[in-house]
Amino acid sequence: MVTRAELQFILKICRRVASTIAVRLGEIHGTPMGMPLFAADRTDAKFFAYTPRHTVPSPAPILAGHIYLCDLLDDEAPERYLRILCHELFHFVDDEKVHEIVDHGKLGGALDLPHAQRMHNADNFALFAMHAHLGRAPSPF
Ligand SMILES: [Zn+2]
Repeated sequence: MVTRAELQFILKICRRVASTIAVRLGEIHGTPMGMPLFAADRTDAKFFAYTPRHTVPSPAPILAGHIYLCDLLDDEAPERYLRILCHELFHFVDDEKVHEIVDHGKLGGALDLPHAQRMHNADNFALFAMHAHLGRAPSPF
């Protein structure tokens, strides 16, 4: 029963990511809907990317409805770039309560986490998505 519930949870989260991308690109409604999914970070944050849970008004408004891409992302290899985008997409689609998707460990340590933490760790979902996309295990982070 636990395994079935966990697989349904993984399916639900993956469908949310697929729907989010499809709606924003216009694949579902025929025209792109809502705000752009990605935005350039203007805060000089020292991250690859981040997904704010709440809108922050100043000095530059940071909107909860975007995934912000930071300067450090510019130099990433294509596979790492995609994995970072996947990672942020899984943060983006969580509901911040029961289905929260967080960072339980450092990037690259996802497979060393206890099972319960893996089920809610953004990088484990990113690894799963990348594995399905690439048809092989993603390169180490
Ligand atoms: Zn994260």
